[in-house]
Amino acid sequence: MRLTFSAQRIHKKAKIDNDEFDKKLKEAKRSNTVFDNVKEAKDFRKQHRIKVYGTDVPNPFKSFEDLASPAYNLNPTLYKNLMTIKYNTPTPVQMQSIPIILKGRDLMSCAPTGSGKTLAFLLPILQDLKKPEKKISYRALIIAPTRELVQQIAREAKHLSEGTKLRINVLTKATSADKAQNSESKQKFDILITTPLRLVYAIKEKEVDLVNVRHMVLDEADKLLDQGFLEQTDEIFAACSSGKLQKSFFSATFSSHVESLANSVMNNPIRIVIGAKNAATETIKQQLLFTGTEAGKTLALRQLIQNGIKPPVLIFVQSVDRAKELFHELVFDGINVEVIHSDRTKSQRDNIVNSFRQGKIWVLIATDLMARGLDFKGVNLVVNYDFPQTVASYIHRIGRTGRAGRQGEAITYYTQDDLPYLKSVVNVMKESGCDVPEWMLNLKSLSHKQKKEMRRGIERKSK
Ligand code: ADP
Ligand code: MG
Repeated sequence: MRLTFSAQRIHKKAKIDNDEFDKKLKEAKRSNTVFDNVKEAKDFRKQHRIKVYGTDVPNPFKSFEDLASPAYNLNPTLYKNLMTIKYNTPTPVQMQSIPIILKGRDLMSCAPTGSGKTLAFLLPILQDLKKPEKKISYRALIIAPTRELVQQIAREAKHLSEGTKLRINVLTKATSADKAQNSESKQKFDILITTPLRLVYAIKEKEVDLVNVRHMVLDEADKLLDQGFLEQTDEIFAACSSGKLQKSFFSATFSSHVESLANSVMNNPIRIVIGAKNAATETIKQQLLFTGTEAGKTLALRQLIQNGIKPPVLIFVQSVDRAKELFHELVFDGINVEVIHSDRTKSQRDNIVNSFRQGKIWVLIATDLMARGLDFKGVNLVVNYDFPQTVASYIHRIGRTGRAGRQGEAITYYTQDDLPYLKSVVNVMKESGCDVPEWMLNLKSLSHKQKKEMRRGIERKSK
């Protein structure tokens, strides 16, 4: 077995001294590259593959300097933090989403995995909240489907808000300690980041008061508006009763069903799409591999590892049981492997995610729990050991690699039983610029019923 290890890039903060910063800020304030006519903005959008739908859409901005200029007047502390984090140029989703949120408009933003959506919603919210509001709690609420993603967003929010004194609270699993801390001390916070399940519990327990929430963000919005979460999301909408509530929904995938649902709860929203809708990130090299049967998958995976893989590698399977099974197979082969799914404890999950981030775990087997939003910069390869049950699941799973402009690879195994479902994935591959064999392009599309099944992720007999 050959393994070559590429160390995970640990994010290094730049050191900026005050004089240098003052000079940069002065220059930025003089920056005058903001669009002054509609045609220029239109051309710029075209160049960055930004599509906008809606009325009175604000122009995108071109550079972070523009944000510091009088046209946007970004808080110098936030500008300094951007420089410290070493973001040089905004990504297209940031260029267009930030002005829309700053203008107070509702937004539905669809942009590829790893394209910087988190900053696109955090920055305008931090800018709008300005400083702590002593007397009232929670002016912004950010919801994400898993606690791992909540923690990741909170980390980015803390980095980005350093020096603003804005108070961020993270609610994950309910514990009596949380309750004691949050309700008895009556501590006030400006921003709440949490999962739907935890928040609904907090609302019922009167642990949180959401009447002052002005900004609501649904990250991975299509997931949060999907059947599994919809009831909870609805309860959260009801608890955010302020007349001034502004909603922003972000995801890499939006089905038309979710889009119309989202439309119905928004106020004159602007919709933006970066690149092709519901496509995979173009820096991911995607491959399909026919393994014939179930046994063929294990064989193919062993072969792949023997031929040499470049860790860290993520392997997706369909269920908790499948994850446990595959883990036992690989651990006996002496591979540095771990497994993560909803049966593992909170602290096990935290430890595994941290170790994987630090490169201590080389191969991580996961269920779809880990498919959404997590930003592991170094992941070189995603293996879909079990064929994804929805197109969205395919896009999000493989989106754990090839992030922030880096290259990545994804291999999807398929068996005889998966053949009817292949075409949907082939379409995604084609849409994102991958070469696909002619015969695959000629595959029959799914019947209406199969499409519906695939969209809903109904368990198939083969699994
Ligand atoms: P998404 O939510 O679109 O999947 P993330 O917000 O998780 O993407 O960002 C992916 C990665 O890109 C993160 O590591 C983030 O730090 C980095 N990133 C975000 N904005 C920029 C930028 N303007 N320039 C460079 N890297 C960025
Ligand atoms: Mg994200």
